[in-house]
Amino acid sequence: MDDVPKLQADVTALATVEGRMVGTPGHDVAKSYLLERLTSLNLQPYQGDSMELSYRSGRRTFSNLVAVIPGTNRSLAPILVGAHYDSVISSFCADDNAAAVAIVLSAAEKLANTNLSRDVVIAIFDAEEPPYFHGPDMGSTRFYREQRRPEGFHVALIMDLVGHDVELPLPGLDAVGGTLADLLFMTGAESHPALLQVVRSCLPGPELPLIASLNRNVGDMSDHHIFRLSGVPFLFLSCGRWQHYHQVTDTPDRLNYQKMAKICNFVVNLCQTLAESDLPRDDCMETPESLENGVADTTALEIELIKTVFGDSLESFLAAIQLGALNSRQDLDELASRLQGFFRL
Ligand SMILES: [Zn+2]
Repeated sequence: MDDVPKLQADVTALATVEGRMVGTPGHDVAKSYLLERLTSLNLQPYQGDSMELSYRSGRRTFSNLVAVIPGTNRSLAPILVGAHYDSVISSFCADDNAAAVAIVLSAAEKLANTNLSRDVVIAIFDAEEPPYFHGPDMGSTRFYREQRRPEGFHVALIMDLVGHDVELPLPGLDAVGGTLADLLFMTGAESHPALLQVVRSCLPGPELPLIASLNRNVGDMSDHHIFRLSGVPFLFLSCGRWQHYHQVTDTPDRLNYQKMAKICNFVVNLCQTLAESDLPRDDCMETPESLENGVADTTALEIELIKTVFGDSLESFLAAIQLGALNSRQDLDELASRLQGFFRL
């Protein structure tokens, strides 16, 4: 796949031993690299005349890096594709989150060469990691509150921890475990009724097995937080946590670049379909209950995806996690709580 060398080059440039912690020289190096990359893709600034959208908190300056791929009808609300570029420690943090940023850049390059009707906003957020996580200075939150344009967003597609193999530590499931390294998790399909059809029509096939879950079952793991709270339809993609999460061992050599290239194609496909889909909103979608639980029933989709992923091994998989059946929302919630233990989501 010809995306692999580009993904590798971007991860190598971003995931250095200094890391990208806010306020460190490594963060500045990453920021300069990303601004250059966005410029090299011929994207336009999203707001004003710079792709660097800064904000301050106390004595510290932060920078969201935001560009736009113009669509043919610029009056339509744009799609946002986003990932954070800061790191939690002064170390490589390749999977968290250089991998997702690299995928965003490759997706941007492909989308810039297609004629979508809507703008696509490429948002590389600052300050996702603690101590900013879910706080008022989280990059995506400050972006949404202070830097967004009045037309808002059609949908937000966010990625975090998307560079690694999933390991299934389930006894007796070696046959399945061997084939599920490429597993990808999705939440957010419940955030708009029309997303069910969008996801169904973009399913990546056996080379990138997909499992969907309600966002409430895993919580807001990343920058989709503010979009969900604000009633913006969203999709969140992740491979979950793994043993190198927030460790110095989260290095570029441990990533699966072929899998990243497949995720990139999935993201491009989703953007193309989302650009042509209507996602009408109404007030019922913004009640506290809707914002928390979503507005669409994804039960059938979730069950269908699990059956597709496990195929003939479904029975033994359910037995291994001691789940009697997989027919209802209750079964799925049970499954989610058990999988959280296995995948450390
Ligand atoms: Zn992190």
